[in-house]
Amino acid sequence: MKDLKFCPKCGQQSLKWDGEKKWNCSECDYVLFHNVAGAVAVLIKWDDEILFTRRNQDPKKGKLDLAGGFVDPKESAEETCVRELFEEMKLKVDISQLKYLASLPNIYEYKNILYNTLDLFYEYQVGEKFEVNLETSEISEAVWLKKENINLEDIAFDSQKIFLEKYLK
Ligand SMILES: [Zn+2]
Repeated sequence: MKDLKFCPKCGQQSLKWDGEKKWNCSECDYVLFHNVAGAVAVLIKWDDEILFTRRNQDPKKGKLDLAGGFVDPKESAEETCVRELFEEMKLKVDISQLKYLASLPNIYEYKNILYNTLDLFYEYQVGEKFEVNLETSEISEAVWLKKENINLEDIAFDSQKIFLEKYLK
């Protein structure tokens, strides 16, 4: 965050990161906010199993992740769930059957920039277990895991670990 030093408005080397969510220029009135980003994570459930994806890119390459992703501009969180599940695994989600469960903050590091996210957790029950046709190189595989076989150490993100620890009890 400290790499951004030059003010895009006045050009001085006077941009200061406040350590939390914005840069201020001390030479002019320029302010740039780095606000919390919305993201969704979906627990796709069949019986006592949950579908996880394995990340094929950093951050957390090789670790297990729930299906989901960042909310796009002008999109509801439920629309994000529908879009991401279709993009990742060609799953056609009935938006009315998404059940909101909880939200938790997370930090997502990408190319040295830290993104504070608010992860919204949803549950989606499927009527039958399906084989996943992976549609993206961001995922190496999709795995169905029985609740008792889920090892929290294999989970990529802290918010998901915290959520699953409670959820699986
Ligand atoms: Zn300036």
